Amino acid sequence: MKTKKLCIDCNGQLSKDEVALSKKMLGRDIAEFYCIVCLAEFIVCDQEDLVIKIQEFKEQGCTLFL
Ligand SMILES: [Zn+2]
Repeated sequence: MKTKKLCIDCNGQLSKDEVALSKKMLGRDIAEFYCIVCLAEFIVCDQEDLVIKIQEFKEQGCTLFL
């Protein structure tokens, strides 16, 4: 049921939040996910901004992060 997802870039194991963040930033239908470090590089932003975004999405009650 819960298969471990790996970062498409660095092959690192992804947390639930990182998977959810990838979906949020890149689209729900994506099949490839990024860890927070690679995602920050991919969409050219700071890793810290993404951490803040995860917090914001959680506060908004985004279902992807439940
Ligand atoms: Zn990565």
